[in-house]
Amino acid sequence: MAGINLQGQRFGRLTVIEENGRRSNQILWKCLCDCGKECSTIGQLLREEKTRSCGCLLIERRKEIRKTHGQADSPLYRVYRAMRNRCENPNVKSYQHYGARGIKVCERWHTFENFYADMGNRPEDGTLERIDNNGNYEPSNVRWATKKEQANNKRNNRIYVSSDGTEKNMSQWAKELGISPSGLQARIRRGMIQDDAVNKPAPKNLKKPNAKYTDDDIRTIRKLCLTTSNIKIAKMYGVSATSIYHIKIKQTYQDIL
Ligand SMILES: [Zn+2]
Repeated sequence: MAGINLQGQRFGRLTVIEENGRRSNQILWKCLCDCGKECSTIGQLLREEKTRSCGCLLIERRKEIRKTHGQADSPLYRVYRAMRNRCENPNVKSYQHYGARGIKVCERWHTFENFYADMGNRPEDGTLERIDNNGNYEPSNVRWATKKEQANNKRNNRIYVSSDGTEKNMSQWAKELGISPSGLQARIRRGMIQDDAVNKPAPKNLKKPNAKYTDDDIRTIRKLCLTTSNIKIAKMYGVSATSIYHIKIKQTYQDIL
């Protein structure tokens, strides 16, 4: 077989020009590709149709595959993959907050093209936000938000309960008070107990105890703080984690031992 003269023959895009030395005792053939590049390969690969171009065919094929949705490495595709992973891949960390909570990606969005058609390109700094935080990833429940917006929304959707039992989220409280949600946030950050923050103008003494707790509550909370996170305890009592923190560090209720 080694002696067959391939000169002038065509294999795929390649036309054999001439012998071009040897590799591992096999003749190398210099070929001209239709794209204009020259390359050398052995006769066996040509005859078995394993080499059919200078390499340009493979590059085109890869481009083609990428073109099927055009976005294999795009920011949008990364957002899409991350969404699917959160909901469907127990090996990713965030799965516990999504898939494990029963949050799904709708059937339609199991195809990237449909997701792209519904959501369009990712705006700069855009993140996917679900309108209903317990709802699925589906066209009616997802919009693009900027990272800043999303952080604000998460915070502003947090429910605060006043001492008379009124439940409102931060945005609603802020609206009622006629101040901005960030203004209300700032009040709470400064250590104002939540009931004052949402109901009253800033009191002079921020360490004023909140009448909501009994003395026993305070003792129980301080004991719980040794083993349980502020957030968990806050949920049990329907109050903010900040409020629990202040009890823990005795910024409030100093007198209760
Ligand atoms: Zn070529």
